[in-house]
Amino acid sequence: MKGLLSIVFLSALLVSCGSKVLEPDDEIVCSLCDNWNEPQKPFRLYGNSWYVGTSGLSSILIADGEHLILIDGGLPQSAAPIEANIRAAGFDPLAISAILVSHAHFDHAGGIAALQRLSGADVFTSAAAAKVLRSGNLQDDDPQYRVGHEKTGFPAIASVRFVGDGEVMTFGGVSIRAVYTPGHSPGGVTWTWESCVLGTCYDIVYADSLTAVSADGYRFSDGRAANQLIASASVIADLDCDILLSPHPFFFGMHAKLERRDDGNPFVNNVACTIYAETALDWLRQRLRAESGLDVPAPDIRIGS
Ligand SMILES: [Zn+2]
Repeated sequence: MKGLLSIVFLSALLVSCGSKVLEPDDEIVCSLCDNWNEPQKPFRLYGNSWYVGTSGLSSILIADGEHLILIDGGLPQSAAPIEANIRAAGFDPLAISAILVSHAHFDHAGGIAALQRLSGADVFTSAAAAKVLRSGNLQDDDPQYRVGHEKTGFPAIASVRFVGDGEVMTFGGVSIRAVYTPGHSPGGVTWTWESCVLGTCYDIVYADSLTAVSADGYRFSDGRAANQLIASASVIADLDCDILLSPHPFFFGMHAKLERRDDGNPFVNNVACTIYAETALDWLRQRLRAESGLDVPAPDIRIGS
């Protein structure tokens, strides 16, 4: 009888744990994917905010007591390293209550379906991006749309909620504001929140990609995207911003800053958002000059940036 009880107990335990194992979606293959998905040790950026992404694709964990909020989920094959990084940082991925998305491209949204299934978290983004996340297919107003679904598609996310431009969501003691910053994609969102340690508070900005990257033949000068990028760069430059983060660590110099960690916190830099916006406008100007037929190469920014 005792043996039978043990089997029943074990079975119950397995059933109760059965739905709590990460079930990753199929890998996406792309020229930069392996490089982006190189491992990265998780680390604390400041206060309640942690980097839990891979070497080339950001994922940010905001941890406030029992509330865990994740921003972006990398590629489908990034879901497992992100889960492992969250555990290594000392948190339980099953406790994530919200996943926020910067923009609906495969290299930032590809891992979210699996992380959402694991945690049961609510997924939030802009109204335009919500449509893309629910289908896993870009809409035809995305500059990368004509690359084709076989290269740009990603696992659809069953349940997505949208937040309005400027809307603030509060989770426990953390308030996170959505700021619409379209241009790189039509539904791009920048997320911003404040993090405090012993009364020293910093505004953290997860600024969405502002790169003019497209399918062959697309012209930023013909559509709304160039004007959107200019407006979004201006919005990001004007934000209260002490710590800049963005969907690719390259854009905020993460690896170089990690090398300088012994000299204080190099992530604190209140001009970083302005420099980020100005750099994006430089890239856009180069792109528009190339489109206008001037003998200027377009900047070398890769798909998925
Ligand atoms: Zn992108």
